[in-house]
Amino acid sequence: VVESETKCEINKKQPHAVCIPFPAQGHINPMIELAKLLHSKGFRITFVNTEYNHRRLLKSRGPGSLDGFPGFRFQSIPDGLPPPVAAEDGGGSAGDSTQDIPSLCDSTAKNFLAPFLALLKKLNSPASCVVCDAIMCFAIDAAREIGVPGYCFRTTCAASFFANRNLPGLIQKGILPLKDSACLTNGYLESRLDWIPPLKNVRLRDLATFIRTTDLNDVMLNFIISQAQEVSKASGIIFNTFDDLENEVLADLSLICPPIYTFGPVHFLINQHPQNKSLNSLGGSLWKEDQECLEWLYSRARNSVVYVNFGSITVLTPQQLVEFAWGLADSKKDFLWAIRPDAVTGDCKVNLPSEFFEETEQRGLIVKWCPQEQVLNHPAIGAFLTHCGWNSMLESIASGVPMICWPFFADQQINCRFACVEWGVGLEIDSNVNRVEVAKAVTELIDGEKGKQLKTNAIKWKNKAAEATSSVNGSSYLNLDKLVAHMLSKQ
Ligand code: UDP
Repeated sequence: VVESETKCEINKKQPHAVCIPFPAQGHINPMIELAKLLHSKGFRITFVNTEYNHRRLLKSRGPGSLDGFPGFRFQSIPDGLPPPVAAEDGGGSAGDSTQDIPSLCDSTAKNFLAPFLALLKKLNSPASCVVCDAIMCFAIDAAREIGVPGYCFRTTCAASFFANRNLPGLIQKGILPLKDSACLTNGYLESRLDWIPPLKNVRLRDLATFIRTTDLNDVMLNFIISQAQEVSKASGIIFNTFDDLENEVLADLSLICPPIYTFGPVHFLINQHPQNKSLNSLGGSLWKEDQECLEWLYSRARNSVVYVNFGSITVLTPQQLVEFAWGLADSKKDFLWAIRPDAVTGDCKVNLPSEFFEETEQRGLIVKWCPQEQVLNHPAIGAFLTHCGWNSMLESIASGVPMICWPFFADQQINCRFACVEWGVGLEIDSNVNRVEVAKAVTELIDGEKGKQLKTNAIKWKNKAAEATSSVNGSSYLNLDKLVAHMLSKQ
């Protein structure tokens, strides 16, 4: 009896972090890694997904696969959106596709607070802190209400957050919103923000795509502005980046924000915490990963394959799909291309001509979804054709793989700008995709001088990422300890 009472007492004292990601793949993945890191530091974890994503996670992993992780539990809350409808054009099946992001943003802000607060209040073991996505600041209010600290996790690069913090200034100066739609084509978006030193090479067109509006009341413009301001309520902001990569931006941010903790790349840092092995199999993939593509990669020469993946949200038009396809075919290089079932407006099998499959049969592999980190770390991969989602970029940098950048929306434009101009690891192609440019970029990255130069830079950044996450004075490694100390001091 005494022993079980003692155990009970210990459990009561165990810190308990409730982690809530924004309900999209690129936010769930890094939040799971962060939760695993906290778990490795002795925290009990409650991980809160939406009911929709919880179902998808169970479907991709198999029934019961989210149980049995000691001290790590999953919970779910409704997302307040109507049930998904299957696309009539053959796109993603209902219940297995990415939800509309503006609708999700609107719903998280309006509908999540009540169910999240109710969940916090009914937990058997009370939360000692909340860690929420930095675009879900309602959760900081919920944390306050139950009297525990709330931390924001920003899953984009620090530069994108810093740019969003500067948007009110651009509105005050009359630079935004756009005067009229001609600004989209008349060169206006080329203007640089050279009076904001860390953004000196950034143009208006590199800012979040939501600024491309003439409406000051635009929902998404206001959403990103308000969320970037509201993080000031948090007890700390965590960034999935590392100091060397963004030191100038981070220095400026630390003057205007709550304590900042950079501990990226999180997927690198997790490898430095081997006590976490029991959770190794725990991932956040919402689609089933095709493992066989790794086998296929083993049949290819070193640095010979271009890996093509546009993440979990991007939707291509059939025309864009066809241009990418013929660009890959015409490059004559090997490729691994992941095309989600909901990645094209229409069915890709219908839109890709049979001549393309005949032509590339020997050197191309198309899958639906793959284990991206493992793919990027495979020695056969020579380049990554990407939409510049922040996780993808960081995973590519951490694997020493140079990129062909085709940013699609949101923060991807600024990620692309930094990759191509500041870090020297990317080559941008025109948003109006055409096969000649795709083929040229692929050949250049796999065989050309530019490719060699970008590869050298990518390896340099890979080494710096390894240093940052190393247990010997690595900035990310030390920052995790600082964050944990901060969390424990507030218990
Ligand atoms: N991802 C994956 N397999 C795929 C495609 C993507 O595991 O076939 C993962 C990828 O490793 C990354 C996340 O999904 O962690 C995508 O996030 P990112 O920020 O790159 O883009 P988003 O999906 O948010 O546009």
